[in-house]
Amino acid sequence: MRYFPIFVDLEGRRVVVAGAGEKAAQKLRLLAKTNASVLVIGTGAVEEIANLAASGAITHVSRRPEARDLEGAALVFAADDDPSLNDAIAAASRARGIPVNVVDGPAASTFIMPAIVDRAPVTVAIGTEGTAPVLARMIKSRIEAWLPDRFGNVATFARRFRRRVHDEIGSPLLRRRLWERLLAGPFRRHALSGDEISATREVMREIAAARSATSPPGLVTLIGCGPGNPDLLTLKAQQRLQEADVLVFDRLVDPSILEYARRDALRIDAGKTAGGPAMPQETINQILVREALKGHRVARLKGGDPFVFGRAAEEMAAVRAAGIEVEVVPGVTAAHAAAASIGLPMTLRGKVRQFSVVTGAADGALNLDWRALSAEGQAFAIYMGVRSAPLIQEKLHAAGADPGTSAVIVEKATLPDERVIATTLADLAEAIAVEGVRGPAIIFVGLDWDAARLSRPANVAPFRPSRAKGTLPGPERPAHEITVAAQWIAG
Ligand code: SAH
Repeated sequence: MRYFPIFVDLEGRRVVVAGAGEKAAQKLRLLAKTNASVLVIGTGAVEEIANLAASGAITHVSRRPEARDLEGAALVFAADDDPSLNDAIAAASRARGIPVNVVDGPAASTFIMPAIVDRAPVTVAIGTEGTAPVLARMIKSRIEAWLPDRFGNVATFARRFRRRVHDEIGSPLLRRRLWERLLAGPFRRHALSGDEISATREVMREIAAARSATSPPGLVTLIGCGPGNPDLLTLKAQQRLQEADVLVFDRLVDPSILEYARRDALRIDAGKTAGGPAMPQETINQILVREALKGHRVARLKGGDPFVFGRAAEEMAAVRAAGIEVEVVPGVTAAHAAAASIGLPMTLRGKVRQFSVVTGAADGALNLDWRALSAEGQAFAIYMGVRSAPLIQEKLHAAGADPGTSAVIVEKATLPDERVIATTLADLAEAIAVEGVRGPAIIFVGLDWDAARLSRPANVAPFRPSRAKGTLPGPERPAHEITVAAQWIAG
C-alpha cells in the first residue's frame, strides 16, 4: 500500500484551487460539498465556477495564482490548464509542507483523489493507486447500487441516538451488539425512510432489552475457511468472521482470510507447526471456553471444513461442557478444492463408485483398511500424507494394489503457488522426495484424466522417475525408499 487512505477534516479550513477552468470545476464539485473555505485563483473562469462564486459557495480571484496564495492552506489543488504553472504550484506547496494534488500529475502530487460514493455522512473512497481508474469506477457503481440513495440517513439517525445509548448501556460489548441489531433490523428501514418516531421506538426497545440482560451469551463458531483462497469462503463464513470479537486460528488458515474479520477483533494464533511446538488441543479448548465466557463471539477458524480431520468434535464437546452454544459453518474441504482445481471428478460413473478421504497422519499408525482401498473402482484422497508417503506406498503394495494406479499430488491447492504432480503409486514417494513437496498437499489415488476422458490440464507436471526399467534405485536414495521401490519392481 503506497497511498494511505485517510479522511481529512476540512471544517472551516482553507483549500486553494489553482486554476478556474474545466479541470478546476471538476475538483470543485466535490469540494463544494465540504465546509471548507475554498479559494479559487485563476483567469478565464468557466460558468460553473462563476456561478459557485456568485452563490457565495466559494471565493474566486481572477488572476494568475502565486506561491504566496498558498499560505495557511490545508490542501492545494493545482488544476490549471497550464502544466508548468501546476508544477510551480506543486513545488511551492511541497516546500511549505502543504498536501497538494496536481490534476493529471500523480508524480508531482503528494496525495491523489479516490473515487467516491457519497452517502454523507457515509463516504466510501475507492483507490487503485492510479493504476486503473476504470476499475475504481466499476467498483464505485457496484457500491452505489448496494447503498441506497438515502443510506446516509441511517448514519445520521445512529448519530442522533449514540449519546443516549452510550449513557444507558455501560458495557461496550452490549453496546456493540445493540447497534448490530439496530442497524440490521427495522431501525435501519425506518431510518432510511426518515421515520423518526418508529426509529426511536426501536432504539428504546433495544435499550430496554439490553438493560435487562445480565451479560450477553458468548458463542463459539467453528468456521470452515476453505483451502486458502478467500474466493472459496462461504457467505456465512464471511458474516461470522465480520461479527467475531475473537479469532482463534492456526497455520492452515491463509492470512488473506483474516482480512475478512474486524480489525479490532482479538487474534489468537493457535498455530500448530508440523513437528514444531504446538499449542496442545486442551489449551485451544480452554481458550475457546475462556473467551466465550466473557460474552465474546469466538470464531474458531479451520482450514477446509471443520468436520474433515479438523478435531471439531473435541472442541465442540469442550465448549458445550462449559454450557456455551457452538455453531458450525461448513467449508470447502481440501480434497474438493484440489479436485476442482485440477479438473478431476472424484467419482466416475461406472468406474469410480466409492471415494474415501483418509488420513496419512503418522500418529495413527496408519491402520487403514488398505485391502479395501486397493480394490478396483476405489479412489481416495490422502490428507496429511506427504511425510508418510513411503509408508502409505508400502501398505498399498502389501495389500495388492496395482503399482500403475494413478496418483496425483496437489500441493497448496487454490493458492498462488499451487503445484500438481501426476505419477503412479509405484513412484509416489519418489515423486514427493524428488520434487520437494512439503505440503499441505492432497494425494489422490485412483483418479486419472484418461479414465474420465478428460484432458490433463497444462499445469500438471508428469513425474518422470529416475529408475530405468528393471534396475534398482541408486544408492543415494534413503534405504527405506529403496526397499519400497524394489518391492514394486519385484511385484
Ligand atoms: N479440515 C481440513 C483438513 C485439515 S488436515 C480440510 O477440510 O481441508 C490438514 C491437511 O489438509 C493437510 O495436511 C493437507 O493434506 C490438507 N490441506 C489443507 N489445505 C490444503 C491445500 N490448500 N492444498 C492441499 N491440501 C491441503
